[in-house]
Amino acid sequence: MPELPEAETMARDLNKRIAGLTIADVLVSFDKIVASDPASFAPLLKGRSIQRVGRIGKWIKADLDSGAALLAHLKMTGQFFLGEWPGSVSSPWPPHARAAFLLTGQAEDQTLYYRDIRKFGRLRAFSRDDLRDFLSDLALGPDPLELGPGEFHRLVSSKKGRLKQVLMDQSVVSGLGNIYADESLFAASLSPVRPASALTPGEAETLLARIKSILLDAIELRGSTVGNYQGLDGPGSYQDRHKAYGKSGQDCPRCGNPFARAIIAGRSSVHCPVCQK
Ligand SMILES: [Zn+2]
Repeated sequence: MPELPEAETMARDLNKRIAGLTIADVLVSFDKIVASDPASFAPLLKGRSIQRVGRIGKWIKADLDSGAALLAHLKMTGQFFLGEWPGSVSSPWPPHARAAFLLTGQAEDQTLYYRDIRKFGRLRAFSRDDLRDFLSDLALGPDPLELGPGEFHRLVSSKKGRLKQVLMDQSVVSGLGNIYADESLFAASLSPVRPASALTPGEAETLLARIKSILLDAIELRGSTVGNYQGLDGPGSYQDRHKAYGKSGQDCPRCGNPFARAIIAGRSSVHCPVCQK
């Protein structure tokens, strides 16, 4: 599932390619992909120009000149790519394409497609006011890249639950999932199964520093291509740097003891029981 570095990569790719263009038409071939009011989805977007594409947590947000916005959560297998306008919903579409946005404003029109094999991702369009209400209801925690150690310690240590579960809770910090939580905890030598409330201020400072450096390195390498994820301009390569995530059954590169696997918050978790305390 795309996490912060993958959403950031997709947002940057999109911003580079489609900011400044106008959404001339919208087609949706799979209705459930639109999770906001379906009657207002195309009307909020049509005729509006895209000012900027950015990221909030794992969400991608395209700001329009009207103050409205298009929000996308990629979930398991959501992707954007550019192609040719299909003309209608009954014409042949590229495989697994669920929505199409005709973009004008360059010498040649382009079509931004949203593709989703497993169909868990969702698109939403909101007016300025509805966007504010939606984001307020989402109650996302701060972005880890913009967080200081004192605030991070306060947020994490005030929660019940295991450390990894709390790190993946989007209302505590937004953007971390299974991959970057496993990698950050390994880099900070902290066990994912210990209680979050036991994190000391010093440990929190180390953990936040590791989280930031791992996220920034991953963004530099266009994220981790695990499964089918890729940005608009190609896949990522941070998966080649993973030290713990997905390494169940292998030996810890630091101490040589075998990695342990645990299920935390329903997700498979890998850690070294010797070096992660
Ligand atoms: Zn170890």
